[in-house]
Amino acid sequence: MAAKSDPLAEYRKKRDFRRTGEPCGDAADGRWDGPIFVIQKHRASSLHYDFRLEVDGVLKSWAVPKGPSTDPREKRLAVMTEDHPLEYAGFEGVIPEGEYGAGTVLVWDAGVYRNVTYEDREGKGEQSVAEGLEHGFVEVCLEGEKIKGRYRLIHAKLGGQEKNWLLVKGRDDHADARRNPVSTEPESVLSGRTIEQIAEKEDPVEEDED
Ligand code: MN
Repeated sequence: MAAKSDPLAEYRKKRDFRRTGEPCGDAADGRWDGPIFVIQKHRASSLHYDFRLEVDGVLKSWAVPKGPSTDPREKRLAVMTEDHPLEYAGFEGVIPEGEYGAGTVLVWDAGVYRNVTYEDREGKGEQSVAEGLEHGFVEVCLEGEKIKGRYRLIHAKLGGQEKNWLLVKGRDDHADARRNPVSTEPESVLSGRTIEQIAEKEDPVEEDED
């Protein structure tokens, strides 16, 4: 486990920054106004969507195999992974073969969020996202391009696994069982590219002659 003093220790330990173009987490990023979220489509050994929330200076992260749903009845497994640096929200490209998370990363959606985690519905008070994470329940209101409105993260520990949370759409005006943006809107919100286009451009296929 990463030491409390450096929340990015585990992130750094897993990566060789001489080989991967991912940020090492030394620079602060001032492009955003308010806590940010990002959802990165990551075609690694298996395709998944990395859901990340800015909390206390790092990106709390979950790998969501099916990506977020806009249907409140759909519960999506969200496997907690190591904290990532804030600049990771702007990372799009190819992680070289042999490196941790090797594959292609696309910024599928991004924006700011509001914390709407409440201790109860009787107005006992608000919880910070960090407190909510400790208690196993967080609710945020996302302002993305594709994904908007309330989402809940619930520490369900499926299969007895500590790392297993659920990502569920909250019931609000943005809930829509007919939408399926994960499949109908595959392009990057940063560059408009598809994951295939990113893979092609940054990792030109070398012609094997054998
Ligand atoms: Mn990933």
